[in-house]
Amino acid sequence: MNNAEYYKIQVPGEKLYPAGVEIKVKKITPFEQKRFFSLISAAEDYEINKTLLDFLKGLVVCEGIQFEDLYYCDLQFIMYQIRAVTYKLFPLKVYTTCEHCGNKLSIPIEVTNLEVLSAPEDLPKTVLLDNHGEIPIRPKKIKDDFIIDEFLKSQNIKTDDLPMRIMVMDLLTLSEWQPLPELWNLAYMGDITVEDIIRIEQFLSQAIWGPKEEVKHTCRHCNKEVVVSYQLDATDFFSVDTGE
Ligand SMILES: [Zn+2]
Repeated sequence: MNNAEYYKIQVPGEKLYPAGVEIKVKKITPFEQKRFFSLISAAEDYEINKTLLDFLKGLVVCEGIQFEDLYYCDLQFIMYQIRAVTYKLFPLKVYTTCEHCGNKLSIPIEVTNLEVLSAPEDLPKTVLLDNHGEIPIRPKKIKDDFIIDEFLKSQNIKTDDLPMRIMVMDLLTLSEWQPLPELWNLAYMGDITVEDIIRIEQFLSQAIWGPKEEVKHTCRHCNKEVVVSYQLDATDFFSVDTGE
């Protein structure tokens, strides 16, 4: 018997997935909450993502697609949804001072209050390469950071070498056309050109969506609107604000 509570969600990148893909998130159990805390506390900086993703894999049920193949831009939205279904009674809160009247504000952040940007309707599905014509291109996926880590290690390049990370990410957008080692060779030889890379990076800068991490709130004291930015982080999953 499975007592877990699952909630079907609609991710902002929905239109980009094949028909029939369904995504559900699970309410975290107390065991998972503590486990998460110990994993996170033990993790090195760069491992936090991997730990988090391994953990999340158990909390997200995907039909018609693997979790790793979800688009990276949907991850933040999924995180907010898991946080929301797990702590229904304890919404996230942000504390600030009204910029107009100095009143102290505690603003609850409900997922439904967040403005969510959907994947762009007109996102290109192909890119023009100088020597190869129109090639399929795709946005960043959840698995890409791990592929980048592994690949850089195999090339004896440090995984924190940012320009090279970007280079490998650029090439991964073409991985429906050729496997990464092949793409790497093409770029090394200049067969994929500097101008090709610019077109790919233009595509990646367009392929952005997800929750806009700010809440608009009307100050009760002066009735003016305050906009507060917020960033979800790991601690939001194991500490709650129980109120004043
Ligand atoms: Zn005010």
